[in-house]
Amino acid sequence: MQIWKNWKILKILLIWINLCSFIQVTSSNFGNIFKDETFTPLSSISPAISSVNSFDTLNEHDLQLINSYNSSEVLDFIAQQINFGPRIPDTDESRLCQNWIVSKLETAANVSLHPFSIKKGANSCSGTNIVAKINEGHEKIAIFAAHYDSRAVAEKDPNEWLRSQPIDGANDGASGVAVLLELSQIVSQIVSQSKNKWNYEFWFIFFDAEDQGYSLGFNGLPNFEWCEGSTYMAEEMSQKPENYFSQNQSIDSIKSFILLDMVGGENLEFIQESHACPDLQEHLFNVGNHIGYGITFPLDRNSYSIIDDHVPFAQIGVPTVDLIIKFWDLSNGWPYHHTQGDNITHISLESLEITGKTILYFIFFTFHPSRDIFPNGFSSPTYFQQNWPTIIIFSVGIISVVIYGIITLISRKKLKFRPFPKVTQENNQNKLQNKQKSKE
Ligand SMILES: [Zn+2]
Repeated sequence: MQIWKNWKILKILLIWINLCSFIQVTSSNFGNIFKDETFTPLSSISPAISSVNSFDTLNEHDLQLINSYNSSEVLDFIAQQINFGPRIPDTDESRLCQNWIVSKLETAANVSLHPFSIKKGANSCSGTNIVAKINEGHEKIAIFAAHYDSRAVAEKDPNEWLRSQPIDGANDGASGVAVLLELSQIVSQIVSQSKNKWNYEFWFIFFDAEDQGYSLGFNGLPNFEWCEGSTYMAEEMSQKPENYFSQNQSIDSIKSFILLDMVGGENLEFIQESHACPDLQEHLFNVGNHIGYGITFPLDRNSYSIIDDHVPFAQIGVPTVDLIIKFWDLSNGWPYHHTQGDNITHISLESLEITGKTILYFIFFTFHPSRDIFPNGFSSPTYFQQNWPTIIIFSVGIISVVIYGIITLISRKKLKFRPFPKVTQENNQNKLQNKQKSKE
């Protein structure tokens, strides 16, 4: 009787542990591998500490270089990409765009193509990433990235008939590429004309196949998930570092990774993203505020979780930031995500200017030889570390389910084979007698 009571208590305890772990797991972001579309409001970030105010003002020459950033040329770069047609991976239009990107980079950078093909059962998906390196010969690396593919469907278009058609991707794809092309030209001038030796390599990366995953009943392309190009590159960097790094470099050499995705739409307002490295993100938003772009880089707001090309790099410990808008919110001022409205008429020169200039100031305020404010680099992303308590509680839940199952099985078997033959026989005889009595 005593054992039976204890067993009941143990059962209740196990159910309670399971209930707790279920609540914890469902309320946290565990397993939050969402596609491009999905978001989860996570936490409110603390007001940013000022990482910029302590800097000297830039000299005349630095300012001249920053002011040479030409947003009209950036807009033209967007138009040229759209003119190639939809940049759907592994198509002639995509290859035309690829060649054009390389031709724009070649004078300023050392450019390499990284084709990939990923087996998916009997099928495969393939594409080509582009890497351009400026100021080679240093251990530390600062990366700026964007995706150059455009989505093959417009699943969010208000007109049902247009949903299976590819989009221009003027903002979603082309804007990030265009800003990076302009920046690469200026960065090469910054490092070559400076009296001080800049001790960072600047890499400009153009990912293929970011935007072909599944959403609202539509696959961009069959066999494609979101972020195929960046996922492949992050894995290859881990497994075959010699394909990317010089001998004195490794993944740890990447001190900063800034992703530009949808940076040219009207009413530009970037979000805080939860896979990002908090101090790098805070610093970049501080720079935006410092130069007067507080509306685009709002401080102290909710943080959202977005799956984008920075995530595979955050997962291998690289400090990342994703400059991206609240694209799922139709009241955000740019309601054209994955619709035919993502065209050049909804691109803003001002937004292109704000993004490009903020990145240039960020480069001066962060990597300049006399202003290297984070000499030990930024901290690792906390997103994946934060999940450890959840993972532990989840594991405890699973283990308790298994224990519950085993104990139940054992106790049932014991009851079944309980050796009380005499009692059983007596009971049976009594039962038989009772039955006979009732028949009579
Ligand atoms: Zn997209």
